Amino acid sequence: MADLRTVSEAEALVRAHMPDFGAIDVPIAAAAGAVLREVVFAERDQPPFDRVTMDGIAIAHAAWAAGRRTFRIQATQAAGHPALTLEAQDACIEVMTGTALPAGSDCVVPVEELAKDGDTMRIGDAARPAPRQFVHARGSDYAHGADLLARGTLVRGPEMAVLASAGRPTVQIARAPRVAVLAIGDELVDAGAPIVSHQIRRSNDRAIVASLRLHGITEVASEHLPDDAAVLERRIGAQLEAADLLILSGGVSMGRFDYVPRIMESLGVELVFHKVAQKPGKPMWFGTHAGGKVVFALPGNPVSTLVCFTRYVLPAIVHALGAPPEPLTRVALATAVDSPPPLVWFLPVRVAQDESGVAWATPRPTNTSGDFAALAGTDGFVELPAEPKRFERGYLAPLFRW
Ligand code: AMP
Ligand code: MG
Repeated sequence: MADLRTVSEAEALVRAHMPDFGAIDVPIAAAAGAVLREVVFAERDQPPFDRVTMDGIAIAHAAWAAGRRTFRIQATQAAGHPALTLEAQDACIEVMTGTALPAGSDCVVPVEELAKDGDTMRIGDAARPAPRQFVHARGSDYAHGADLLARGTLVRGPEMAVLASAGRPTVQIARAPRVAVLAIGDELVDAGAPIVSHQIRRSNDRAIVASLRLHGITEVASEHLPDDAAVLERRIGAQLEAADLLILSGGVSMGRFDYVPRIMESLGVELVFHKVAQKPGKPMWFGTHAGGKVVFALPGNPVSTLVCFTRYVLPAIVHALGAPPEPLTRVALATAVDSPPPLVWFLPVRVAQDESGVAWATPRPTNTSGDFAALAGTDGFVELPAEPKRFERGYLAPLFRW
C-alpha cells in the first residue's frame, strides 16, 4: 500500500503523468473554447490599406494649408471599392468610415466641420485639419506575417475574431481526450428506470459528463458496471483500449466488493497513488497505463466524486491541453468554521461579492459525503489546510469552482 499523499503531492503527481493528447486541424468555428497548437500569423497588414475613420471628405492637406476652404465634390468613395484618385487640389472625395483613403488625398475632414452647398463642400473657419488626420494607416496595427496568437492560446470571442481576420479556414488545436466515465455499483439505477428502496439513483456519472461537456469535452462514453470482478475487468479493459482517460466512480474504497485496485493491477494499470489526506475523497486512486492513458478512480460518495473530479481531473485536463491554468482566486470565509480531523478539508461554499468587491464564501457544509443535494446552487468549494483547527471569519481560502 502506497503512502497517504498530501493534496499538493497528489496534484503534482497527476500533472506529471498527464499525457499529451495530440493536435487536430478543425474548421475555425469548431475551435471555440479550444487551445491553439500553432502560432497564427497575420495574413496581411492591418489595416490592409490606409483606412478612413470618419465620415467626411478626403482632401489634399496642402490645399487647405494654402488657404482653400471650398472644395468641388469629385466623387463618393464607398467601402469595399478600390481607392479612387483625387483629380485636383480644388477637389474632394466624399468618404465614410471604413473606406480606402483616395490616392492623392492625405487628410479627412469630418462632416461636423463641413457645410454642403450643391456640388461643393465648405470647411468651417474654426476647423484646423491636420495632415493624415482620421486616417488609420496601413500596417499600423500589425504587419503582414506578425505573430497574432501564440500556441497555448484559449480561443474565446476576441481570439476567434483574430483567427477569422487572419483568413484561416482551419486551425490546429489541442485534441480533447476521449473520456470514459464508469459508474460502479450493484445498487445504482439510472434515472427513468424503476427503482426499489434499497437501490440508489446513479448520479455521479451524470454530473461528471455534464461538467466535462461544460468544459468542452464532448467525446465521452459512460457506462454502468456491477460490483462483479469479471465484468469490471472486461469492461475497464475495453475502455482502456477505446478511451484516453478513464474516470471511475465507486468500488475503490475498502469494502469487500471494492475490486477496482486489484483489477487495475491485473489490467496492467500502474498505481501512482492511492489515498490522499483530504476530506472528502480520501480513497482516491490514480494510475497510468501503457501509451500514456490515465485512470482516475474516485470514491463513489457523490460529494467525494464531484470534489475529486473538480480538484484534480478537470485542472489536469486543462493542463494537458496546454491551456493557461485557471487563475487561483481566494475568497473570504463569511463565517468561522471548525475543521474536522487533520486532513485538508474541501468545504462547499456559495460566493457573493460585497460592495467593496470582497468575495465572501458562505459555507454550505454537507451532512455527509453522500449529501449532494446541498451542493446544488453552490459555486464550488474552498480548500482549507489541515491546520489550524479553527478558521475565523475573513480567512482567505482558494476557491475551486464546479
Ligand atoms: P463506493 O465508493 O462504491 O463505496 O460508494 C460509496 C457510496 O456512493 C455508496 O452509497 C454508493 O451508493 C454511492 N454511489 C456510488 N456510485 C454512485 C453513483 N454513480 N451515483 C450516485 N451514488 C453513487
Ligand atoms: Mg460500491
